Amino acid sequence: MSTSRFAQVALPLPISEPYTYRIPESLLDRVSAGSRVVVPVRRRELIGVVVEVDGEQPGQDVEIKSVLAVPDPEPALTAELLETAVWMAGYYGAPLGLSLKAMLPGGMWGKSRVMIRSLDPGRVPGGFGADILQWLERKGGQASIAAASKKFKKPVWDAAGRLARVGAAELVVEPPKTGVAPKTERVMVLDRNKGGGGPTLVERKSLFKNRPRQRELYETLDDLGGSAPLVHLKERLGFSPGVLKALVGHGLSRVEEIETLRDPFADEPGTPPPPQPTKAQDDAIDMLEVLDPGRGALLFGVTGSGKTLVYLEVIRRALDRGRGAIVLVPEIGLTPQTVSRVRGIFGDRVAVLHSGLSEGERADAWRALRSGERRVAVGARSAVFAPVQDLGVVVIDEEHEATYKNAETPRYDARQVATVRAKLEGARLIYGSATPSLDTAARLDKDLIRLNLPDRVGMRPMPQVKLIDLRHEPLVEEVRPIPWSQELDRAVVETLARGEQAMLLLNRRGFASFLICPECGDVWICGRCSISLTVHTAPPTLRCHYCGYEAPLPKECRECGHAIQRMRGIGTQQLERMVTERFPKARLARMDLDTTSTKWSHHKILNAVERGEVDLLLGTQMIAKGLDFPNVTLVGVVDADTALYLPDFRSAERTFQLLAQVAGRTGRGPTGGRVLVQTRRPDHHALRYTVDHDVEGFLAEELETRKSPPYPPVVALANVLVSGTDENAVGLEAARVADWSNALVEERDLPVTVLGPAPCPLAKIKDRWRWHVVWKGESQAIGRVVRYAAERVAGKGGARVVIDRDPASLL
Ligand code: ADP
Ligand code: ZN
Repeated sequence: MSTSRFAQVALPLPISEPYTYRIPESLLDRVSAGSRVVVPVRRRELIGVVVEVDGEQPGQDVEIKSVLAVPDPEPALTAELLETAVWMAGYYGAPLGLSLKAMLPGGMWGKSRVMIRSLDPGRVPGGFGADILQWLERKGGQASIAAASKKFKKPVWDAAGRLARVGAAELVVEPPKTGVAPKTERVMVLDRNKGGGGPTLVERKSLFKNRPRQRELYETLDDLGGSAPLVHLKERLGFSPGVLKALVGHGLSRVEEIETLRDPFADEPGTPPPPQPTKAQDDAIDMLEVLDPGRGALLFGVTGSGKTLVYLEVIRRALDRGRGAIVLVPEIGLTPQTVSRVRGIFGDRVAVLHSGLSEGERADAWRALRSGERRVAVGARSAVFAPVQDLGVVVIDEEHEATYKNAETPRYDARQVATVRAKLEGARLIYGSATPSLDTAARLDKDLIRLNLPDRVGMRPMPQVKLIDLRHEPLVEEVRPIPWSQELDRAVVETLARGEQAMLLLNRRGFASFLICPECGDVWICGRCSISLTVHTAPPTLRCHYCGYEAPLPKECRECGHAIQRMRGIGTQQLERMVTERFPKARLARMDLDTTSTKWSHHKILNAVERGEVDLLLGTQMIAKGLDFPNVTLVGVVDADTALYLPDFRSAERTFQLLAQVAGRTGRGPTGGRVLVQTRRPDHHALRYTVDHDVEGFLAEELETRKSPPYPPVVALANVLVSGTDENAVGLEAARVADWSNALVEERDLPVTVLGPAPCPLAKIKDRWRWHVVWKGESQAIGRVVRYAAERVAGKGGARVVIDRDPASLL
């Protein structure tokens, strides 16, 4: 008994403390900190991670269960990753088990089956153990523990453990199935050959007389580029099998079985290595080479300055020294060029962790990195946990992007996690951006050095940016209500005439942002969320962008019965319709959440743009990120003000970043480029500084606005979000949070201000009311409140309480 060893095991559950388990003799040499283990929890078996061995000797009277099995030959997590998880749990106030869960791919938590295999049945002459062995012999030598328990009508874990200890049997964990996602999918394709290019509007009218749903389906397909997966049409857009069949019956469409794109990066050769570095790039590379291990730098380089080449060169040198690297990008689907450049140089030493991987493939990629077979990981946010061996470099491209912050527990920020991990592993950290976030810019005085790439490669000038004041400039009247200035109209015509490409940004999807009754002023609001319903035309519906609620487009006002309902706030669908009619010869593509619902659809659209098969690309912020198309010579921002008035302290910062980023998509080729920005607030600092590409100017002025009242980076924040279906209970719980935080702050004399309780700006989402309390103050003091709260708020009945430290927004 005295030689027993114990393991503290964190389970992937919202509980704050690890559980203690006995380590059986036979597993002693395989259990260490970071190991995955199978343990009994109530009447199930779960996979957990050992956080400590030999920790506390448990009290005499508690019954301690034993570790059942150890699936991996080596601990899944290195000491550094384990320590990163512990830091994450502490900093964000999240249960350690959930932090660990975020770290390992889902497949590794999967329901592994534990098998018992007979080794030497003769060793146990009688009793329950012998019964089990006999039964196993009849089953061909092995069976799952679950099956055995079922057969003997009681849990056989203990008996199985005893058999294993005497060498009569062994316990084996079957790894989770390396599932392979289906290789083909059924899509519906429009038969456009009928009548050359499909029926005209007039023809459609007679063709679809009395068959409105079929017409909708036809137009939806047309809208989605001529084809769409059946599942998408049925499940997301709600077309019945009957309607689908009827359209095929009329010879207007057919169903095809097509191969799904498993991994568009797999077959692409990857962009070959770029030419010699420029002087500025060389200087940056040299500075990064002498950076102390564990330290970081911000590569502040204008759009098109060649930041990628700097990353690649630093990574190459790290690989030459036998070390590995992680490259984080905001979203894999939206940044195919960066990925293909990394693969172009490092080929099969790279593991691309993209969302198209099945759980099993993800686990395989993880193992390939863990074993050192692959040395470079590329992926979105969660790739910051990639188990790259001997990590030498971490790159965070487009560091200002909001996607680096996780929206569920643990609400980690990959930029912060990377800082911690880089320190632990002695890796160099490179943040890259043309428009750094205020948070990162503020770190320049503290723990980041600054490296500049002030000019575009080849000394190409930055594009000329012009603001068009929609209140005063002449508009094209025919296209009302779309705000479309004559100047932007002319610019599009000219660009198309020259055979060049244009991009049009409108950061609002759907057809119109809301429907209002001109008689009584009633606006159609989602019943489950406190936001207006968006008008969509394909198919014609009112849709909630938060919960997915859908209703047919109403014919009259639900309040006063008035027959005409007005649409307000144009979206990408409406813009697309206008542009199609106005520039009928232009080849058009639209990119937003609705056209990219299928895997890799962004990839296909962007490839078409790259190959010159698209003249006009219009879309939401999706088109603004990191793309490099030399033939794009015009960027038009249709309405720059869409996000300016959101009640959030980062709305100006987001607006400026979006404008500067989309502006950076042009002027990358020899023919130059220009940017026209339509706005009603040309005097706002988020717009003014875009004209001269004056990022510093914007950062300085925006920092001033964060001083009073203070907001990050001037102070630190934590947002405590209370939500639930009972509005009263939510308000009460929020008040309780405010009460005890006030008491705590006072008692310990912490430099923290407690704001609220107050309803969130988005007061209800998916039938849950939302209130919040905000802690504002010095970061370490906030940390103390967070740690205190973490113990208190877990699993309260009625209202759910979530702590969001360093929140991305306060909506
Ligand atoms: P950024 O990420 O800073 O916006 P990119 O890394 O996409 O810029 O580089 C912009 C363009 O310049 C790319 O087409 C890239 O291939 C090219 N480029 C980068 N470095 C060089 C170089 N040293 N010589 C020539 N072309 C380069
Ligand atoms: Zn809703």
